[in-house]
Amino acid sequence: KKKYYHQTEFLQAVEEIFISLVPVFEQHPEYIKHNILSRIVEPDRIISFRVTWLDDQNNVQVNRGYRVQFNNVVGPYKGGLRFHPSVNESIMKFLAFEQIFKNSLTGLPIGGAKGGADFDPKGKSDEEIMRFCQAFMTELYRYIGPDVDVPAGDIGVGGREIGYLFGQYKRICAAHEAGVLTGKKPGYGGSLVRTEATGYGLVYFVEEMLHDHKQSFLDKTVVVSGSGNVAIYAIEKAQHFGAKVVACSDSSGYIYDPDGIDLNILKEIKEVKRDRIRTYIDYRPNASYTEGCSGIWSIPCEIALPCATQNEIDGDAARTLISNGVKVVAEGANMPSNLEAINEFLNNGILFGPAKAANAGGVATSALEMAQNSSRTYWSFSEVDEKLHNIMKSIYLECKNAASTYGFEGNLVVGSNIAGFVKVANGMISEGVY
Ligand code: NDP
Repeated sequence: KKKYYHQTEFLQAVEEIFISLVPVFEQHPEYIKHNILSRIVEPDRIISFRVTWLDDQNNVQVNRGYRVQFNNVVGPYKGGLRFHPSVNESIMKFLAFEQIFKNSLTGLPIGGAKGGADFDPKGKSDEEIMRFCQAFMTELYRYIGPDVDVPAGDIGVGGREIGYLFGQYKRICAAHEAGVLTGKKPGYGGSLVRTEATGYGLVYFVEEMLHDHKQSFLDKTVVVSGSGNVAIYAIEKAQHFGAKVVACSDSSGYIYDPDGIDLNILKEIKEVKRDRIRTYIDYRPNASYTEGCSGIWSIPCEIALPCATQNEIDGDAARTLISNGVKVVAEGANMPSNLEAINEFLNNGILFGPAKAANAGGVATSALEMAQNSSRTYWSFSEVDEKLHNIMKSIYLECKNAASTYGFEGNLVVGSNIAGFVKVANGMISEGVY
């Protein structure tokens, strides 16, 4: 805490996990003997670099890029790239740290990493995005590879950016190593379902939680924050299961549509026009727009799916959701609920699906993309979707079982932390001190 006192997001993520691990350490002195906690919180390495690029006016622009390779005990480093002005070392470390346990939970051979840059893609032309991606990869390429470290997308990095990054990697390395990045578009190595995977996976996970309590999505009112990759496909699958999704947001504000969000309009605005969410009301006269995104949690709903960013639900927002009758909260974004909010949910009997379990469908499908790339083959949409669905079911079961084994029945926060940790810790012991 003293050493990294300024890295608030990183400390928050570590604290949340360490609290859950107390019962594990009580029963497994070998983890203390091997000093696992001190080792697991120090990244293997942090790569930090300058990214210099030319904007459309031929001005030289400079950003800072990062790659945090946190832990590769279970498999090659794996985790997304985030392009957002808020990116700093603390945020990179928290995301990479969480990624270790999430990737372990998928049951697939992938370690934990994260990267990105403090670059703001908003308002940039397509050419500027391309030049930035090329400059970013010109530095990053030397640290990654299909068996070394495999980046993917995250906030501000979707199929378009992955394409530019991949093109530059290929140019520099003179090899079509498809497995070096995931989230590629289908046609040059991308997997079907990867675009949908995090949102679909989140809804599959919630479906398991509901099913366990003899409920379903049918006719439930749902609020989803964000309107990016995760949010859009969470909305799509929730609607597919019969839910009514009434609200979503971007970083400027939120829309409320009492008739249920029209997904085609939302996709047109966000995926095609890359416009702001406020323009939704131009198409739907019954809908309303409110400036400021945090107010979205005051909309009454039975299921809340935060899918925008970290710390978007604090204690007050959690209490508002609870008093408005929320029954299920599941995290599509990484660490969207702060510790106070999580405690409110757990203490008030809300079914709570923590990020590292509930949003693991994205990285799991990335690992399926790596498998297809390695075997130089493509699987059909339904084949990948079925694998994703099964992975989410087994993650749910694993978390649930780990929680009950240690006496925390129904607490998926404790369950996911323990189940994710134990595999990595055992691997660290087996692979020796290094
Ligand atoms: P996108 O960039 O596609 O969308 C992000 C959405 O969140 C946008 O609507 C954005 O609004 C909003 N947002 C971003 N920053 C803020 C902020 N500071 N305050 C309020 N709203 C904000 O990203 P993704 O959908 O890919 O990622 C969303 C979350 O899901 C992140 O936490 C990410 O780490 C997590 N995640 C993503 C995975 C994936 O496969 N993509 C996998 C697992 C987790 P605006 O357009 O105004 O910026």
